[in-house]
Amino acid sequence: MADWQAVIGLEIHAQLNTRSKIFSAVSTAFGAAPNTQASLVDLGFPGVLPVTNEAVYEKAVAFGLGVGATINHQSVFDRKNYFYPDLPKGYQITQLDEPIVEHGHMDINCADGGRKTIHITRAHLEEDAGKSLHKDYAGETGIDLNRAGTPLLEIVSEPDLRSAEEASTYARQIHKLLTYLDICDGNMAEGSMRCDANVSIRPSGSSELGTRTETKNINSFRFLEQAINHEIERQIAVIESGGRVVQETRLYDPDRDETRPMRSKETAMDYRYFPEPDLLPVVIDDSFISAVRDRLPEMPYEKRARFQTAFGLSEEDAETLSGNRSLADYFEYVASASDPRQASNWVRVELLGRISKDSFNSEDVPVPASELASLINRISDETISGKIAKTVFDALWQGETDSVDAYIDAKGLKQVSDSSDLAPIVTAIIANNTKQVEQYRAGKTKLLGFFVGQVMKETGGKANPKQVNDLVRIQLDTV
Ligand code: ADP
Ligand code: MG
Repeated sequence: MADWQAVIGLEIHAQLNTRSKIFSAVSTAFGAAPNTQASLVDLGFPGVLPVTNEAVYEKAVAFGLGVGATINHQSVFDRKNYFYPDLPKGYQITQLDEPIVEHGHMDINCADGGRKTIHITRAHLEEDAGKSLHKDYAGETGIDLNRAGTPLLEIVSEPDLRSAEEASTYARQIHKLLTYLDICDGNMAEGSMRCDANVSIRPSGSSELGTRTETKNINSFRFLEQAINHEIERQIAVIESGGRVVQETRLYDPDRDETRPMRSKETAMDYRYFPEPDLLPVVIDDSFISAVRDRLPEMPYEKRARFQTAFGLSEEDAETLSGNRSLADYFEYVASASDPRQASNWVRVELLGRISKDSFNSEDVPVPASELASLINRISDETISGKIAKTVFDALWQGETDSVDAYIDAKGLKQVSDSSDLAPIVTAIIANNTKQVEQYRAGKTKLLGFFVGQVMKETGGKANPKQVNDLVRIQLDTV
């Protein structure tokens, strides 16, 4: 590998989260019965006309502003002609020469701790195709056209990436930006963001580009890394055994961890592009752009910085907690309604220990932010100990209760801080452990912990540990 350098460019397809399709009024909701959400426009029947959904311009412009790009004042749609079973109308409406967004960039953190700028060539609007279904149709293929006409923003990077790790870092950051801007739901499993990885290798030190292959439709960050690493190794093996890399489109099979050829690469010529005759060029003026700019939400790096200053978090913790829009909103609620540092600990350890940051969606979290805040407040006001709090958290997580306070009451979990309740227990423990008492008094003061532990056990963890510590010490030292 030392002799070779990998060169990678990504094309990312993000489904824009509009309620209706890009050129028709049909719903884009996921999961409907096959072919119930495809209109004559989506199917390209003769005589019907597309009408562009204005929301896609706003979302594309928001993305352009988020990556510091040029927003082109004129935006034109083109027809890309090809036939495929999931595209029965024979062409896709996309943008070739006059995309809505050009010349952006995204800075990423590298493994060596440095920062690196990845240039974004363009981002253009287009419609999605349908989906071929193989699973339930032994020996045949089903076609579901519900997805046909779903708006996509295709985000094309320059070949600036040099490893699978850099590529996935960049893709994660694009994903984060899309969800912060609230222009894509980011649900990778449902295909809301898919990556095509263009990969080539060249001798280290060379500045020429090698021949690339394109691996299509990768819908997880892990597969993206695996597919790229696999393709780099395959190309090195091909060249080192005297062969040549062929420019082609490949498919990644995650089950076998291999890429295999799908078709030889087509060129723009093959698609017979021409301007879409049914849609006029659209002029995007400065007032539209500045209106979108005024509505932009807080960006990921702004939120991270604010979490550091407002809640006193380290950069690393702030980065983790702002890593996904839903997570950031959840954390911010808890931190604002309770002790922020405790909130940071609980969210990072207890929640992110159970759900990965990437798939965190507060709607699926069984512990509402308001209950986690109550739980932390019950620790702060010494109603319960931190240890008992974990059992309450578990109960919330398992769905045994939906109220921290009700659960503490019902199970009698209130911390015992009253020394008149605790003192007799301490006395009894001391009386029953004469050997340890002798050792303690002979100088083995470490045994303090043993006595405290016994009292905690006796009280089912409910005693206030600080109070117990004081009482044990007093009783042991004063006799
Ligand atoms: P196409 O539309 O045919 O896929 P583009 O020129 O738009 O071709 O390039 C698509 C992607 O391929 C871009 O992300 C670009 O950075 C990347 N790319 C181009 N040449 C190379 C190369 N030699 N090695 C790796 N990636 C490349
Ligand atoms: Mg391509």
